[in-house]
Amino acid sequence: MTGVQTSREFPIPEHMKAWVLGDPGELALKQKPVPAPGRAEVLVRIDAVAICATDLEVIAYGTPAMIQGGLPFNKNFTPGHEYMGTVVALGPGVDEVSIGQRVAVEIHAGCGQCKRCREGMYTACLNYGLNYGDRDKGHRANGFTTDGGFCEYQVNNINTLVAVPDGVSDEEACLIVTAGTAMYGLTELGGLVAGESVAVLGPGPIGLLGVAVAKALGAAPVILTGTRDNRLEIGRELGADHLINIRKENAVETVRRLTGGRGLDYVLECSGAPDAVNDAARMLSRGGKLCLAAFPHEPVLVDVAHLVRNNIYVYGIRGEGRSATHRAAALIAQKRFDACKIHTHTFALEDLPTALKYARERIEDAIKVVVKTRTGAAQRLAAE
Ligand SMILES: [Zn+2]
Ligand SMILES: [Zn+2]
Repeated sequence: MTGVQTSREFPIPEHMKAWVLGDPGELALKQKPVPAPGRAEVLVRIDAVAICATDLEVIAYGTPAMIQGGLPFNKNFTPGHEYMGTVVALGPGVDEVSIGQRVAVEIHAGCGQCKRCREGMYTACLNYGLNYGDRDKGHRANGFTTDGGFCEYQVNNINTLVAVPDGVSDEEACLIVTAGTAMYGLTELGGLVAGESVAVLGPGPIGLLGVAVAKALGAAPVILTGTRDNRLEIGRELGADHLINIRKENAVETVRRLTGGRGLDYVLECSGAPDAVNDAARMLSRGGKLCLAAFPHEPVLVDVAHLVRNNIYVYGIRGEGRSATHRAAALIAQKRFDACKIHTHTFALEDLPTALKYARERIEDAIKVVVKTRTGAAQRLAAE
């Protein structure tokens, strides 16, 4: 492509290995052409990609991915969205980053021209998924509306790139976007959480890093609820002041006791449990704020009267907006928490089906499972 800058240090093949989604639940390792970066884009050589619960969702059910306006099956679509890598080619006119730079990536590149993008809410772009045919608005959500990271190379808009701090491993760098999602939730709640009380519901990856980010920002106390003690213990290592196993005690009662009967300032809901909104509302003080970062599959009954009478604010968040990923990366660079505590397993790209199985069935207590594209000989070569 004309105007694309490359470097002899990083030779780019014409084709690459890429996992492609066929029918629901069916992935095949294929050869695909290496994509070329356009204006305001770079080509990233993917070094590592983490598996997210949403990937499992996309592979099994299609949603929330949307390719060419519909379900992503049998469309030569490559899922995967929590990746990091090395910039190996620059699109025409790109001078914001350089070849060889290690980057983590945000998922969403808004169109840049709609009302929400102009407001900085690029993860809620009004032209979401309109990136094909003669309605190409330039929107990308890699792994959702455009090809993602279960392959060797991907193009990214420069606005999605986050520099990987020195001393941060490939695996930890994949978690920058996870921490960014937690940071976005706290940002939408107002961001000024120092000295405020926060509960995080659900010790999945976002919940656990939600604890870490809230603690790093000075929230106190930070309470984590969940069903499994081993996950809750990781939350303690990441900064939770109180753990509540909801199988053993009533979380609402315990939270109210811990807050002297007053209730919390903030709740970050990461469990997706059917009754989570009602529980969260009863944990909050009057005028408290609730951020929903997870959701149940089925519609649920919500006690709206309780929300209204108590002036409770409810926020839904999508992705990792408002450049929250950069703030999360800053906390990781300053070693304010150790995101590696949630990384449990690493596999080679060829072993993606096994990696997905570990993540889905939580084999060996898997939390974050990472797939690396460059293992063995290739990696040793790169290290020289
Ligand atoms: Zn994800
Ligand atoms: Zn937009």
